[in-house]
Amino acid sequence: MKAPLVYTERYTLAWPGHVFPTRKYEQVARAVREEGLAEEFHEPRPAASEEILTCHRPEYLERLRAIADGLEEWDPRFECPVSRPVLESFGLAVGGTILAGRLAVERGYAANLGGGFHHAYPDHGEGFCLLNDVAVAARVLLGEGLVRRVLVADLDVHQGNGTAVMAREDPRIFTLSVHQENNYPVKEISDLDVGLPDLADDDVYLGAVDGALRRAERAFSPDLVLYLAGADPYVEDRLGGLAVSKRGLEERDRIVFDHAERSGAAVAALLAGGYPRRERDVVEIHLAMIRELLRRAGRNGRGREEAGCRASPERGGAPGDQV
Ligand SMILES: [Zn+2]
Repeated sequence: MKAPLVYTERYTLAWPGHVFPTRKYEQVARAVREEGLAEEFHEPRPAASEEILTCHRPEYLERLRAIADGLEEWDPRFECPVSRPVLESFGLAVGGTILAGRLAVERGYAANLGGGFHHAYPDHGEGFCLLNDVAVAARVLLGEGLVRRVLVADLDVHQGNGTAVMAREDPRIFTLSVHQENNYPVKEISDLDVGLPDLADDDVYLGAVDGALRRAERAFSPDLVLYLAGADPYVEDRLGGLAVSKRGLEERDRIVFDHAERSGAAVAALLAGGYPRRERDVVEIHLAMIRELLRRAGRNGRGREEAGCRASPERGGAPGDQV
């Protein structure tokens, strides 16, 4: 069994000169195709407003639309342009993570070749994140009864601040964040935070990731792990200050997948951040994660349909109006 991958070319945005290389999405998808890794690509639909509103404030969504239409002033906290195509892309990323979660529940493993916009808050966006696909997907899948408990394993170098706030009052979502302490953002309180010192190397990083997942395992038994496989703990990252190697990040992926398998949880992986000096590095890091995920899916294909999966992955909720 091969794992399904979720992707649309509309994830890539024209942001000339911006530090966030959204071209990585198409580069990863192309590399996956060229290597013949995946047989299944699923096109996401944009998330419906009612899905987004499970986590975001209606005034914020209205404001985003008004900014995109030039009716209100842009907010510098966004750190990225806001236009209708940008909003559409974020809506697709949310829809993509919801779909990847559905597919993971049915098949064991899936990935959204995008997503991981963990800095978006209920009432504002920041750090290149306008809509929080992670928290919305968890809430939507929980709301449908497709899963009962979701672990957010956020291993981007930056703390998952927006997700932590959105999930704070929801005991069905456990937020775990292993990040660089002395870095953006201003920290919120996750269910489990591990702040690493600057220049933490493979040994320190992997020990922290493994330890955090084992602590989470004792506290929480998820049906689904939303894995933010950020590439920015990499030593050469421009916005990260850790010193983790590519081999270290590959080991990290294995640790996360091992944890999920021990817990009997499905995994939906998201790409999250990555701001390398060389674009090729971020593609290689994400690609290695996808290779391992597909290898696991092939090995562990475990017919989750028979294990009581109730929803058809493509069905989704009623689309309603979109972003
Ligand atoms: Zn990051």
